[in-house]
Formats: sequence, C-alpha cells, structure tokens
Amino acid sequence: MKILITGGAGFIGSHVVRTFVEKYPHYHIYNLDALTYAGNLENIKDIESKENYTFIKGDITNEKLIELLFNEYKFDSVIHLAAESHVDRSINDPLAFAKTNILGTMNLLNSFKNLWYNNWQNKLFYHVSTDEVYGTLGKEGLFTEKTPYDPNSPYSASKASSDHFVRAYGETYNLPYVISNCSNNYGSYQFPEKLIPLFINNIINNKPLPVYGDGKYTRDWLYVVDHAIAIDVIFHKASIKETYNIGGFNEWQNIDLIYLLCKQMDEKLGREKGTSEKLITYVKDRPGHDLRYAIDASKINKNLGWKPSVTFEQGLSKTIDWYLANEEWMSNIVNGDYLKYYEKQY
Ligand code: NAD
Repeated sequence: MKILITGGAGFIGSHVVRTFVEKYPHYHIYNLDALTYAGNLENIKDIESKENYTFIKGDITNEKLIELLFNEYKFDSVIHLAAESHVDRSINDPLAFAKTNILGTMNLLNSFKNLWYNNWQNKLFYHVSTDEVYGTLGKEGLFTEKTPYDPNSPYSASKASSDHFVRAYGETYNLPYVISNCSNNYGSYQFPEKLIPLFINNIINNKPLPVYGDGKYTRDWLYVVDHAIAIDVIFHKASIKETYNIGGFNEWQNIDLIYLLCKQMDEKLGREKGTSEKLITYVKDRPGHDLRYAIDASKINKNLGWKPSVTFEQGLSKTIDWYLANEEWMSNIVNGDYLKYYEKQY
C-alpha cells in the first residue's frame, strides 16, 4: 500500500510518519511537506534512511504539482495533516490559512478523485482536524461528533471549511473518507510558539510566561503519541464516511496547567519550589478567544477500543524530559538555524 502523509515534518505529522514507517514495513510512506517555518526534517531524522520511506518537498497549494505526484506515485490512501496551525498567526494573516487549509485540501481531494473515481476499493482519504471547529463551550457540556460547527478564529474557520469539503466529496463523488477532530496536543517536536514548549523554554531561560486574560481558558490535552496511535487505529478500523472525536479525557484551566508545569520544571531543574511560578505574567487577551473546549471521545473508545495510554502528569513529565534532553533542537529553532540548513539543502 502506498500512503501519502502530508505535513509529516511538523509536530503531529512527524509522530504519525514514524508510527507508520516503523510499524508497517510493507507499506510505503510518502511524506509531502513544504517545510514552512513549522516543518523541520530534524523531527524525522531517525527514519529518513528507511527503505519504506520517501520525503517529497512540495506545497499542497500547488495544483499542478499535486496532480503530477498522484499520477506518478498512485497513492492508495492519504493521511492529510499539512496545515497552517497556529491560531495567533491566523489572526494576522487569515488568507494564508484559507489558501493552505482550504485550497490545499481541495487540491488533494481533486487529485485523489481524478485518480480513483469509481474505483474506490481499498482507498481512503483521512483528514486530520481539530475540535476548534465546534467553537466554544460554556462551563458545562462536551463536544460530540454531532455538535454543530461554530468556528470563531480564522484558523478554525479554515479547518471547518476543509472538513466540509471532505464530507461533500464523500457525498458528491462517493469518495471514501474519515475525519477526526482532536483536542490540544502536547509532546516532543512541538514548535515553541505553542504553550507547553514555549513555557518550558522560557522557564529554562528565566523569561516571562505570558498568560492570556485571567488564565481561566480551559482545554483538553492529549499526548501526541496517543494521537498518532488513534490515527493508526482509525486508519485501519474506522467505518468509511465517519467522524471521530479524539481527546484525552483531560480538561485543564490554562493557569492550573501552568502551575503544574512550573512545579515539575522546578523539580527537574533542581530549583527551589515556587521559582518558575514567579515568571507568570498576565497579558492582553487575544480576540475571539474560545472559553472552553472539552471532548467526548466515547465513540472512538467504544467502537474502536482506543484510549490514551498515559495520564497528563506522566505525559507532561516525559515531554519536559525530552525538551531538557534536546535543548539543541530547541535552540536551533529559536535561532532559526534549521531554516539556514534547508537553504543549503534545497
Ligand atoms: P504543525 O504546524 O506543527 O505542522 C504543519 C506541517 O505542515 C509543517 O511541517 C508544515 O511545513 C506543513 N505545511 C504547512 N503548509 C503546507 C503546505 N502548503 N504544503 C505542504 N506542507 C505544508 O502542525 P501540527 O500541530 O502538527 O498539526 C497537524 C495537523 O493536525 C493540522 O491539520 C492541525 O489542524 C491538526 N491538529 C492539530 C492539533 C494540535 O494541538 N497541534 C490538534 C488537533 C488537530
């Protein structure tokens, strides 16, 4: 089986590529990634020489290139993760999000459809999406697969739109698809603009920890390795044209999560209790900030037997250990050195 994974040099994509390359030597995995600021080949260095793996540098918004790649390699399935993924960036440049997340997804759908139309046996288009498409919750309730879409940021609106196109291709052309909507991920190889790696880096370097608003925003958190396992399970076991919510059964108010992170960091760095907390700095809220996300992941649990393998305390501890052991990875990103490396390579 030939599987195209898009965005495999990014945070979640690198874990998915690694899982598939290592676990399924009889599949060939093609990793298509444009290597934007968020893509980093260091994230998948350990598998680059595997025989069942090919990296392709390319942009999903390039319609001709995508058509050409599908015609040349005849991918049986697609696991689509490539996206502009940072909400704050989407507020500054919404069009970039529409281009990659909507038009890029449509290019992949079109090429997949043109290649296999009416010949769908053993084919699958798996679209990886976010719980942010559902908008915000009040103090009570959970997002289920039936919750109406109500996105509030340009990022979530672009992801919602791409979800709709995937579903529409399923109805209109009978294209076999699955969609999963997952909560906030954390773990190794996450770009340090996102909360947990940013705060780990700032604590190491005694820099302020910027907390939006009153810190009461609530999110569900999932260890990235568990997301990759869920994607593997869905890819192999899900019913066609179904949607699955993926979550950690693990809700945290930002400020409580930050206190836990500070506590673990003090312990691991051998600093006096309470040292890291002093770096907390409240900053102006971002516009359109969703109050609370919480996921009902009972469908994937009951129907496919998936559940998270680690508690949040365990996952966070593993994550901190990884960043402390890989400070060079972090400093290369912060210094922009890995981008200079690409200029030499391509
Ligand atoms: P990321 O920003 O770390 O990685 C995105 C990858 O896509 C990068 O390697 C980047 O180079 C690549 N990319 C961007 N634009 C591209 C283009 N035009 N053509 C080809 N490649 C391109 O993102 P992530 O956090 O790993 O998220 C991956 C997917 O999972 C996204 O679709 C995101 O919406 C979804 N998701 C993320 C989270 C989360 O917490 N991070 C939660 C749920 C769903």
